[in-house]
Amino acid sequence: MIHRLTLLCQSLWDLLSEASGYTEEQLEARLQYLDNTDGTADRRRRVGPSSCRCGAQVNPRAKVCLYCGADAPPRSAFDLI
Ligand SMILES: [Zn+2]
Repeated sequence: MIHRLTLLCQSLWDLLSEASGYTEEQLEARLQYLDNTDGTADRRRRVGPSSCRCGAQVNPRAKVCLYCGADAPPRSAFDLI
């Protein structure tokens, strides 16, 4: 499965770079930026809880807030990988 995901990412990158002109340097810069968004440059991106409108912290995988029952704040599809 990981091999397939790697091939898929490579294919998407090839199409994007050919169509847009983005360079490998720009790709690497974005990777480093995203890696650092959780405060640690460790080639991973940890997703923390988000704040509900009631003030409670909601687990990234929760669909509703356990405290008030509101829908969980929207997340990126990448946050759930
Ligand atoms: Zn809540």
